[in-house]
Amino acid sequence: MIKGVSEVLGDIYSPLLLIVLALILIHFGFPLTYYYYLKSRWLNKPWGIKRDLSYKPKVSIIIPTYNEVNLIESKLNDLVRQDYPRDLVEVIVVDSASTDGTSEKVREWVRRNPELKLVLIEESVRRGKVYALNNALRYVSGDIVVITDADAIWSSSNTLSNAISWFNDPIVGAVTCLKVPANEGLMSVEEGYREFYNVVRLAESKKYSTPIFHGELAVFRRNLLESIGGFPTDIGADDSYTATKIALMGYRAIAVDNALCVERIPRREYHMWRIRRAQHLIQHFIKALRYVHKAPKEFRYILLIEAYLHLINPWLFPTSLATLLYGVMKGITLTVVLLVLGLLLLLYKPFRTWIATQLYLAIATVRNLWTKEIAWRKQEKGYGLSILISF
Ligand code: GDP
Ligand code: MN
Repeated sequence: MIKGVSEVLGDIYSPLLLIVLALILIHFGFPLTYYYYLKSRWLNKPWGIKRDLSYKPKVSIIIPTYNEVNLIESKLNDLVRQDYPRDLVEVIVVDSASTDGTSEKVREWVRRNPELKLVLIEESVRRGKVYALNNALRYVSGDIVVITDADAIWSSSNTLSNAISWFNDPIVGAVTCLKVPANEGLMSVEEGYREFYNVVRLAESKKYSTPIFHGELAVFRRNLLESIGGFPTDIGADDSYTATKIALMGYRAIAVDNALCVERIPRREYHMWRIRRAQHLIQHFIKALRYVHKAPKEFRYILLIEAYLHLINPWLFPTSLATLLYGVMKGITLTVVLLVLGLLLLLYKPFRTWIATQLYLAIATVRNLWTKEIAWRKQEKGYGLSILISF
């Protein structure tokens, strides 16, 4: 049965269609408005931080490892190439009962590189990264603690120096890198995801602080870590949550554009990897929201908006999709038009990227009901980097 034009236009007044349109408008409009607000108001503002490259405190670098035999050697080699004064650096590798010979590999590396001070802590049971980090904290002697994953690559030899220089200003409590993806395959989603988020991270940091940190390079003042009792053991997002706690205390917790990191992306189990990380972020925001009333004013809105974007906004999309499908079943012509438009938009990369991320977040919320992924399944990451980036 073919409908007349007037009938189709009459659909505009269907309450169902109005609900769908409202949900879609909020779901896309809210984050886009936030993005453009940050970009135009804050991205190009000065930091208001007195950084100094000649500020060289003692630094302790913690590398947590679980079955990283393929990557640990190149990770340590990258550390040696950093231009930070050698005598001001100590490295602590904390290994949680790896079964692939990671700790043997580390010992072998130490024999070949005696000039770098390295402590290897070998846990006899694996309880998870956060437990390992807290264990390592007990051995730390530097004023500044750096956490870096074995699969993380720092983009240049001055990444560490650059990150540390911000701590010259006592207002800075935590620093993280911006992320650049590198790997073969599945690049389209991951790349788009980073473009958008790097602008947000950076602009939030300039405004005050960002509630999302990266395990590739997360730097903290040791006394602040101690005052908050180390890393949380009940959630997975150790870096983001710890940084947020520090921001809540009135210190700046910032992502900086002079420290870039590359993360290796798993070749297999990509979706599971994204879901697990989304689970950790959700756990972090749920826990952090308890303290939002204590947040400095500039940070309160950042935290509330990011919590909304991770906890609630993702659900508007599947809800509008379900409503749309119901409308299609009911024969409302304009819902069919909207659905076709949506499908066509999937050809547009940023749209695809966004949708994928929302679905990971929604699935992660559900998955959090039965598993927190504190000691997660290891995903194999490529160690032959096909793309080497230059900055
Ligand atoms: P992803 O970056 O979210 O994919 O997480 P990874 O699996 O890469 O883990 C981040 C870092 O934590 C890597 O260096 C891992 O080797 C390390 N890691 C993961 N689980 C454990 C653990 O149970 N104990 C220790 N010591 N390190 C761990
Ligand atoms: Mn990683």
